[in-house]
Amino acid sequence: MTIASHVPRLTVYGCRAGMPEPGWPSSGYLVHLRGGAVLLDCGPGVAAKAATAAELSAVFVSHMHVDHCLDLLTLGKALAYQARDRRRVTAYVPPGAAATLRQLNELFPLSPHGPGPHRTDRVFSDVFDTVEYAPGEPIEVAGATVQPVLMRHRLPCCGFRVSSNGQTLAYSADTAMTPSFEHLAGDADLLLAEATLTEPDSTEHGHLSASEAGQIAARYGVRGLVLTHWAHTDHAWLAAQGERAAQGERAAQHFSGRIDLAVPDHTFHL
Ligand SMILES: [Zn+2]
Ligand SMILES: [Zn+2]
Repeated sequence: MTIASHVPRLTVYGCRAGMPEPGWPSSGYLVHLRGGAVLLDCGPGVAAKAATAAELSAVFVSHMHVDHCLDLLTLGKALAYQARDRRRVTAYVPPGAAATLRQLNELFPLSPHGPGPHRTDRVFSDVFDTVEYAPGEPIEVAGATVQPVLMRHRLPCCGFRVSSNGQTLAYSADTAMTPSFEHLAGDADLLLAEATLTEPDSTEHGHLSASEAGQIAARYGVRGLVLTHWAHTDHAWLAAQGERAAQGERAAQHFSGRIDLAVPDHTFHL
């Protein structure tokens, strides 16, 4: 068995907070599993990569901020042009989001007369099986169990605990510190945690600092930590690379296990 065939494993498609930068899509993480693969979040720039993932079984959307969900329509339209016998993909979306996504699809029809029978006009029924997940209720997919866990964010947001082959990956999505991490990340082999901030969040928006991500990793006994959801506003990307390294050092002050920094197209093993 080659290293590349070990499952589960994680490939970063995009790891930007907010809108993409050249070469840096917004949030999107492919988890390779025994029976396929699942995509966690589908932010701007992620569809181009996800559409070529032949083994894609399902997409899970953590919350309806555009940096986590906007490319779901683009991905659906891309898949609509692929062979009809292609494996169907289930879109697991937050409670109440299915109607929003169908309305989004209807706003961008193929013809000037409005939505018609073409599959690109009916992405959320003809391309995706669209299912609203319930926080706390596990879902069996691609030989794995995916548990949505309600986190603490400006919009209702679920992280995902993905268990397969006796191993567990926990993805924080967007969140502030919350006791939910016990359910999400307890004893996980790998915690993919947002580290949006350099200082703890003083607002109600709900994000983590890198120090808090390190504290969570230590408190809940995870084996490895991948920091992600990079935010920067007006400084050059080169400076941001330095900033990313500094985020790793902040987490390392609290967590002595392996710490990696998310980079597009990098694959991490559990
Ligand atoms: Zn975000
Ligand atoms: Zn958000």
